[in-house]
Order: sequence, then C-alpha cells, then structure tokens
Amino acid sequence: MKTVQEAAKQISDAERILIVCHVSPDGDAIGSMLGLGLTLSEAQKRVILCCADPVPSQYRYLPHWETIARSCSERCDLLVTLDCSDLDRLGAVYDPSTLHDVPIVNIDHHTTNVEFGDVNWVEPEAAATAQMLVRLVHGLGISLNADIATCLLTGILTDTLGFRTSATTPEVMETAIQLMKAGASLPELTDRIFGRRPMRTIEMWATTLQNLHLEGHILWTEITQRMRRRIGYQENGDAGLANFLSTANEADIAIIFDEQQDGQVNVSMRCVPGYDVSQVAFDLGGGGHAQAAGCTLSGPLEGARTRVLSMLQKSWSMQNSSR
Ligand code: AMP
Ligand code: MN
Ligand code: MN
Repeated sequence: MKTVQEAAKQISDAERILIVCHVSPDGDAIGSMLGLGLTLSEAQKRVILCCADPVPSQYRYLPHWETIARSCSERCDLLVTLDCSDLDRLGAVYDPSTLHDVPIVNIDHHTTNVEFGDVNWVEPEAAATAQMLVRLVHGLGISLNADIATCLLTGILTDTLGFRTSATTPEVMETAIQLMKAGASLPELTDRIFGRRPMRTIEMWATTLQNLHLEGHILWTEITQRMRRRIGYQENGDAGLANFLSTANEADIAIIFDEQQDGQVNVSMRCVPGYDVSQVAFDLGGGGHAQAAGCTLSGPLEGARTRVLSMLQKSWSMQNSSR
C-alpha cells in the first residue's frame, strides 16, 4: 500500500493537476475536492476541479464550490481521484482518449477500492477521504486556513454522520480539533449538513415512508421518477433517507432503490455493525464500506429490486449463520 509521502511527492512534482471526485457527490467528495484544490492553489499549482454531476445545493456554502466544472478539456500532467473506488465512479469526466497517459494518484477510503491508480493511497479504516487529506496538507508543507478547514471538516462530518460511525476514532476527533482551531465552525457545519433541508426533501421522505417493506430483516423502499416529478424533487440521492431507515430496530439491512431519469437504478444499502453490505454491492459492480455501500443497476426498477433483495437475503443468512 502506498503512503501519504508518495502521494505528496507525485503532487509536488506536477504543475497542472486535475482533481476529480465521484458522481452523485456527497459532502466528502465535494469537501475533499475543494479542500485539496485550495491547498494546491496555495502551493502555486494550476488546479482544475471536476465532477460529472452538479454540486448538490446543500453544499453550496463551501468556499469556491462554483469553480467545480462538469467536464475538463485542459491538458494536465497529474490526475488525482478522491473518494472513488473505481474509474467508472468518475462518470463521463474520465475520458480515456485524453487521460490514458496521465498518471493517477488514487486517494480513497472505500474497502472495495480496486487500486486503479499509479499511486494508490487507500485506507479503508479512515473515516473519510477528507480525514486522510489533512495529513496530505501537512505533508505538502501547507498551513491549514479557515477555508481549507471548512471543506475538510465538512467531509469528515458527512461521512461519520456527525462523529457517530464506528470509524470515529480519537484520531478523527483530534483532526476535527485541528480543523476547528484553523477556523472551521463545527456547530455551523453540523447545522448546515444535518440540521437544515429543503421542505421538498421532507415531502419526498413522507411519500417514500408510506411504502415501507420489511422482508425478513431487510427494510426497503423506493423513489420513482413519478414520485420525483409529482413532488418536484430533482436532487441527486436520497438526502439521508437510507441512514434513517437503518435506524429501525426490526431491520439489520436497509435499502433505497432510486430510479434515475435514464431508467437506471441507484441502490443505497446500509446495515448495522456486525453485518457487511459492501461485498454484495461490489459483486453488483458497485462498492462502499461495510455499513454503507451502493451500486447502479440497469432498470426496470422491479428487476433490479428482485436481484438485490435476493442477493442480500442470501448474504444476510450466510453472515447470520457464521456469527
Ligand atoms: P450512498 O448510499 O450513495 O450514500 O453510498 C454509500 C457508500 O457506497 C458511499 O461510500 C459510496 O461512495 C458507495 N457507493 C454508492 N454507489 C456506488 C457505486 N455505484 N459504485 C461504487 N461505490 C458506490
Ligand atoms: Mn463519497
Ligand atoms: Mn468518503
């Protein structure tokens, strides 16, 4: 496994650096990209930030979010991928015809990372990619400032669900203290990430929660295009609904099937500690962490649902019998 020093060396040696994160970006993807982008600008690098999907409105408080482009045609001499377990997760941003000869530094914390980079700095035990980046900022000899700290603390907060996941170690808390001392406001970020949401999101939850299904120990629901149109909910993702479903006492596994405009189905999986959903997500072409994983399947919705439910039922039984 490659280390922070190797990532820092590749980055120091490059001049024009393209930084990309995964499609349907979350707070760790956007926060990490902006945090590293600001750091490298301080280091006098030419930096291009790119994500195939728009920045969710929820994260538009982050400094310079509007500098994130949807595609990139500029020549670069290094590609840094953040929070991405495989190249497909970059979506249309990864164009092999222009990028095939550009070296890749892959910085990630997904247990299912397939190590597609020239340097693979992958730490599955890290709470967030942003958590790893704090060490990279130090490794590059750049001082944390309030903007960098705000971006990186956003990443840590989103992926730890506000310091609540099992990845929340004393080191994570120490990193958070460093970021607060550099000027990031924990209460303000917590409020923005977990305390406020558009009413349409609550309406979407209300609709989907009327249609809950508990099959054995698996709780699932779905978001259809019809529901989205009726409510006027067009944001990517479920805005935390999968995490909410996974709080049900009766369920070990929670799933959201989210029908996309092109007919594909995004599947969000969650499970309680002691089980693992990342292997099934990986076997279906996706990835993630033990307790939170996902994949994208071709439609129709019913077919995708049957396939996922059957695989997860089998996986649950096997995991349960070996406990
Ligand atoms: P989500 O359910 O979208 O919040 O995602 C939960 C976790 O699974 C995150 O760490 C995602 O990066 C990962 N994940 C979700 N969908 C995919 C996918 N299609 N491929 C790889 N990883 C995914
Ligand atoms: Mn992510
Ligand atoms: Mn992450």
